[in-house]
Amino acid sequence: MDTDRYSRQLRLKEFSEKDQEQLLKSKIAIIGIGATGTVVAELLTRAGIGNITIADRDYIEKSNLQRQTLFDEKDIGKAKAEIAKEKLRKINSEINITSKVCDINAANIEKIIDEKDLIIDCTDNIETRFLINDCSMKHKIPWIYIAAIGATGATMNFVPKDRPCFRCVFKDIPKGSTETCETSGILNSASTAIASFAAAQAIKILTDKKHSTTLTYIDLWDQKIDRIHVKKRTACPSCKGDYEFLERKKETKIITLCGKGAYQIVPAKEKKLDLVKMYPRFKNIGTASVFGPVLHFRHDLIDISIFNDGHAIIKNVKSAVEAKSIYSKYVGN
Ligand SMILES: [Zn+2]
Repeated sequence: MDTDRYSRQLRLKEFSEKDQEQLLKSKIAIIGIGATGTVVAELLTRAGIGNITIADRDYIEKSNLQRQTLFDEKDIGKAKAEIAKEKLRKINSEINITSKVCDINAANIEKIIDEKDLIIDCTDNIETRFLINDCSMKHKIPWIYIAAIGATGATMNFVPKDRPCFRCVFKDIPKGSTETCETSGILNSASTAIASFAAAQAIKILTDKKHSTTLTYIDLWDQKIDRIHVKKRTACPSCKGDYEFLERKKETKIITLCGKGAYQIVPAKEKKLDLVKMYPRFKNIGTASVFGPVLHFRHDLIDISIFNDGHAIIKNVKSAVEAKSIYSKYVGN
């Protein structure tokens, strides 16, 4: 073991050489390598987690550079997972880093998390979190939830056993609209701070130390931290072994439409969107209008019609994966 590289960590009274050896043997999957993912991946690469798999479907955009700390201007247009791997290798060449450029879904997630000791959720949508939760419960792999929006962040450790799972806490996909970084904005220190909270918990979970059991919220603007104790829910499907998201009973569907680059997105659960309430968020970033049950939005070349039951038609995109990504960014799922 390279004790010089990890010497400052080894001097911590909470941490031993045995713990470092344990980290070097550990295998983790980081799902999503954006605002929170780049921070978690960098910290855990520097800390010497021996085997890190990163997965993300997106390509780097100029608007990502404000908070996604592994990327710079010359990376624009390239796959996030590939560039992250390159940057992480330069930081620590003594660990194994694997990248996967893909949309995470029920068909591929079990392969990605296979034999992992920990999954870290750095995604931007609740449907993938329910999918990760189902996988975690089925394969008994702990995971860490991380979310950031506006000036706030949230995180919680989910360790399958007698503890509450993610569906005990969040139940199901919300019926109303979901705030996203695209429509509500994000303070870069909020995403980096909550990712740092989670990276510390990852080290504790991987070295079998007592770790947090609460849902933790932080507000960077007002410097507030709240810890919420949550309980197991008796009606929780995942806790009963009914993995609705993993078994594709609940899943966002993408339908290819006639016409070049046009797709219909049908959310996993029908929504009741208040389009008039959503309208100002869209008006601030592009051209938007509401006619009856439809909000029409244009930004750059992207053209989206969002219906109040949650389904959307997206035009001028290159692929079904890009259409799904745009839906996550602007409508939220
Ligand atoms: Zn549960």
